[in-house]
Amino acid sequence: MSTQIPEIVAAESITEWSGDYDVVVAGFGIAGGCAAVEAAAHGARVLVLERAGVAGGTTALAGGHFYLGGGTAVQQATGHQDSSEEMYKYLLAVSRDPEPDKIRAYCDGSVEHFDWIEALGFEFERSYYKEKAVIQPGTQGLMYTGNEKVWPYRDQAIPAPRGHKVPVPGETQGAGMVIELLVKRAAALGVEVWYETGATNIVTDSDGGVAGVRWRRPGETGAVRAKSVVLAAGGFVMNAEMVGEHVPWLSEKPFVLGTTYDDGLGIRLGVSAGGAVRNMDQAFVTAPVYPPSTLLTGLVVNSAGVRFVAEDSYHSRTSAFVLEQPGAAAYLIVDSEHMERPEFPLAPFIDGWETVQEMAEALGIPPAALQSTLDRYNEHAARGEDPDFRKGAEWLEPQSTGPWGAFDLTLGKALYAGFTLGGLRTSVHGEVLRDSGSPVPGLYAAGATSSTLAQDGKGYASGTQLGAGSFFGRRAGRHAASRSS
Ligand SMILES: Cc1cc2nc3c(=O)[nH]c(=O)nc-3n(C[C@H](O)[C@H](O)[C@H](O)COP(=O)(O)OP(=O)(O)OC[C@H]3O[C@@H](n4cnc5c(N)ncnc54)[C@H](O)[C@@H]3O)c2cc1C
Repeated sequence: MSTQIPEIVAAESITEWSGDYDVVVAGFGIAGGCAAVEAAAHGARVLVLERAGVAGGTTALAGGHFYLGGGTAVQQATGHQDSSEEMYKYLLAVSRDPEPDKIRAYCDGSVEHFDWIEALGFEFERSYYKEKAVIQPGTQGLMYTGNEKVWPYRDQAIPAPRGHKVPVPGETQGAGMVIELLVKRAAALGVEVWYETGATNIVTDSDGGVAGVRWRRPGETGAVRAKSVVLAAGGFVMNAEMVGEHVPWLSEKPFVLGTTYDDGLGIRLGVSAGGAVRNMDQAFVTAPVYPPSTLLTGLVVNSAGVRFVAEDSYHSRTSAFVLEQPGAAAYLIVDSEHMERPEFPLAPFIDGWETVQEMAEALGIPPAALQSTLDRYNEHAARGEDPDFRKGAEWLEPQSTGPWGAFDLTLGKALYAGFTLGGLRTSVHGEVLRDSGSPVPGLYAAGATSSTLAQDGKGYASGTQLGAGSFFGRRAGRHAASRSS
């Protein structure tokens, strides 16, 4: 692993080219697959270099949420009103440092993109899962996967569920189905794929524009000429040095989620050609306490006995707030009427206590502070109100019946897992941008190699990575193809 920026290779120094293409794509995950298919569909001669022996990358691990809206066929069939305007307002509101042109394009193009994904050869189930969960347990097509119903966002945009899940049961690996379909579509369109072949350097011509890439496979190296190069080589969560440099807290206790080749090479290749980066210090980190959603009727307090987040927030939002508390310590407190064991016990159950005093002493929280927080919460919850964090009324139930139990959300006790969200700065067309904002001619990036729509854990919605990776992958492929006509 390294933080080293690969050297740029001058086109004049290459004596023998191993091929000449309009578009070369580095990486066959969701972003690279979509870029390749779209470029080929627009008439480009396309080569994909894939470092692994198979396509898929981290996408093949993903559960399969695509964040889409504005009136998709599943939203319509399940009676959920949505518009690109409300989706735009929502995504703008949850973004830490929004890129309005990209959000606008994503929302305006969302229904068309949904149709395009289905046209690869499957249907999202026309069904809705109404529970609060991390992902639909079965093949239900739609659920809420963000903070749409959480204050203040519910006042800023009309909530709608936008988490579309591919029809594969289970928590992980559903998106592999989409990769298989992309591989088939790419083959039908004449896209060449070289497996076990990684891009190692960007090749530039004398005016700094991209002229191709150098590649390496076991026992062999070479260079291909290309009018455009799309970097879709994943993120950097598996590069301990890069994580240590940009997101040091992520390198300490949380598990990192990704595949071996999420080593940031795609990002470093973009930087070598002059590309700028964004949001490199941001990550999605989570240790969900639900399902069962009943647990969200409880209170989350820090070591001072103080609440700090609406407990009905999307799990990575809650987690991001926990990590900001003193000692990254927090507890979920639930009374005996609402106590259930989590389906995925990532936050360990500590114990149960007959009195609030005993519980506070065991947790090391000042007893008077915890009692006062609980009293205030219960008093308002009984009226369906939460003046402090405006938790949704459906999750407001007094926690007044002892004994009380607590789950440990503290970093190092709960099993947090996450991945990085930063990457190359790109235009609405997927062009890699310099610090000045000008594009590096012929260079594109998409998916986790770029900084996509999801910018931090507080605003993250499940499905934005696959959604934006596929959407902006297509846009990059299309724009790259237009350079060769
Ligand atoms: C367990 C899990 C569940 C998830 N669930 C969801 C979900 O439901 N919805 C969602 O939106 N997001 C989800 N995510 C996040 C999402 O999976 C990733 O952000 C997304 O798949 C990244 O896609 P990508 O195309 O950018 O990268 P990848 O899918 O990782 O593809 C990159 C490819 O590039 C190849 N590569 C690397 N370096 C080179 C090189 N130098 N040259 C050539 N090839 C190279 C890699 O081998 C890989 O095949 C999940 C993540 C995990 C870990």
